[in-house]
Amino acid sequence: MVTKDVPIEAQQAKKVIALDVDGTIADLATQIVKIVNDRYPDAHLTVEQLTKYHVEDLVPSMTRAEFIGILKEIWDNYKHIGLVDNSIPAILREVHKDYEIHVVTAAVGTDDQIKDWLRINNITYDKFVHVKHQADKQNEGADIYVDDYFAVAKQVAVLDKNVIVIKQPWSEIDEQVILNSHNKIVVAQTWVDVRELLLPKMLRK
Ligand SMILES: [Mg+2]
Repeated sequence: MVTKDVPIEAQQAKKVIALDVDGTIADLATQIVKIVNDRYPDAHLTVEQLTKYHVEDLVPSMTRAEFIGILKEIWDNYKHIGLVDNSIPAILREVHKDYEIHVVTAAVGTDDQIKDWLRINNITYDKFVHVKHQADKQNEGADIYVDDYFAVAKQVAVLDKNVIVIKQPWSEIDEQVILNSHNKIVVAQTWVDVRELLLPKMLRK
């Protein structure tokens, strides 16, 4: 029964966050660097030197298919994938009081692998959506996207969605696009920034 005493605001659905996995909450970079340096001895990569989202662009002898193969191998051994920040589970538990959290990922791992990783790492979420391509994320229709890849930010910001870009060496951030985004795109240096951006209702309309 709907009573007249319930404020309109309380009847509204919670805003939805689309939460990316690879590079946003799951630290694949550490594993990528290990495998790439092992297999391509001339690469000499560090995590800081992963300045391209497509790592094959950094290693001349590596093909796209080989890099995808490495990502697949990392997800096959998902129990070795750490968190981008150890405070993420606690921050998401806190954020979940005010938002619905949809994990929206294009990761090459299987549903079972990714879901088990989320379980092991105590990631709070309401819905799991496994898309084929990064570009499909925009169809999720979330209110706020949290992602490490600037290309995703660009795609969803034009749809009038808010985006928090987690700054990583490979994010490929375009400052000019941010300036023109009318605050739709904000950059978080760390997960503490993500928490600050979400909790004080700064992104809410
Ligand atoms: Mg990502």
